Amino acid sequence: MSKYKVVLIPGDGIGPELTEATRRCIDALGLGIEWQIMEAGECAIEKYKTPLPEHVLEAIRKSGFAIKGPITTPIGTGFRSVNVELRKRLDLYACLRPCKSYKGVRSKYENIDLVIVRENTEDLYAGVEFERGTKETSELIALFEKFSKKKIRDGSAISIKPISVEGSKRIVKFAFDYALANKRRKVTAVHKANIMKYTDGLFLEVARDVAKSYTGKIEFEDRIVDNMCMQLVQKPEDYDVLVLPNLYGDIISDLAAGLVGGLGVAPGANIGEGIAMFEPTHGSAPKYKGMNKVNPVAEILSGVLMLRYMGEKYAADSLEAAVASVIAEGRDVTYDMKNDRFDKTAVGTSQMADAIIKKIKSRG
Ligand code: NAD
Repeated sequence: MSKYKVVLIPGDGIGPELTEATRRCIDALGLGIEWQIMEAGECAIEKYKTPLPEHVLEAIRKSGFAIKGPITTPIGTGFRSVNVELRKRLDLYACLRPCKSYKGVRSKYENIDLVIVRENTEDLYAGVEFERGTKETSELIALFEKFSKKKIRDGSAISIKPISVEGSKRIVKFAFDYALANKRRKVTAVHKANIMKYTDGLFLEVARDVAKSYTGKIEFEDRIVDNMCMQLVQKPEDYDVLVLPNLYGDIISDLAAGLVGGLGVAPGANIGEGIAMFEPTHGSAPKYKGMNKVNPVAEILSGVLMLRYMGEKYAADSLEAAVASVIAEGRDVTYDMKNDRFDKTAVGTSQMADAIIKKIKSRG
């Protein structure tokens, strides 16, 4: 019997090509993973009348591991984002996005090695929003004015920013435990507690409290989010693991992906209690669907994160080294990794995976 059963969701657009490339690379490592291929997204709507069938969630809960391709969010169909829904329904509260420089990737920076830990369930992303001009919104505004003694402009829309002790504690603890397990040096909590004293103030207070249990093992500091943006652009080498509430985490992870060469090389993981789902940061790029053209690296590096999460260090190191080596050589890479996007020597998604597999095999 296989040691691991992994749910593989090919997804939409370029997803099936990328997950197939990733599956082949992981299979070449010889771990004997049993893949459970399941449909979610546009392809599931016709068959199951929903883009996220219940049996897919059940399979992920049972196996504990899932790797997925990007899923398109259909506009104007009434279906919510499957990606957000998956994170919510499985309570995958930690979004982990390592941003690391690989030699050969075009970027303004070198030697970046940052890890962004984003809270995935609270904050302005909780979806508690009230449209302008409705009766409920007017009633809420009247109530807020009564309690806060502050005037809210007529016709305003309202979004609520919930930040809890429990939500903050588990994400900060996750960041510190990740730092310890991965021999990192420092955790920086990012916030705007000088302005949002109660919500971000709570996040910071909890972060300081959690940090005390790691004294002498992992350094701790905090930064105000606007200052953090400037510091990351000016001296990213000063930072290591960053932990942030949901919205700042969303923005800073894209900034950090930009420092290392963009979406094509940005992997991600969404982790909860005993369940983890791995996916690239980029979307389904529908215009490239079925063209065997796009870069499989972000999806394959998401596979590396999965192997690390499983504790398969040797396999993870081998796959990452093979990817790094193919990128550094710059020959068997997709069009977006060439200096000129129209370079005729660029290879397809599947051929880049072949080159990575060849490297894995040559290392033995
Ligand atoms: P996108 O990431 O699909 O595309 C943005 C740009 O990046 C495009 O120019 C695209 O061609 C390029 N790109 C993306 N991945 C690439 C790769 N692997 N190699 C080379 N180039 C690549 O973003 P979008 O166009 O805003 O979104 C398309 C769809 O994806 C939407 O329906 C969106 O909701 C969905 N989406 C899904 C996820 C997810 O599944 N987690 C994340 C983001 C967006």
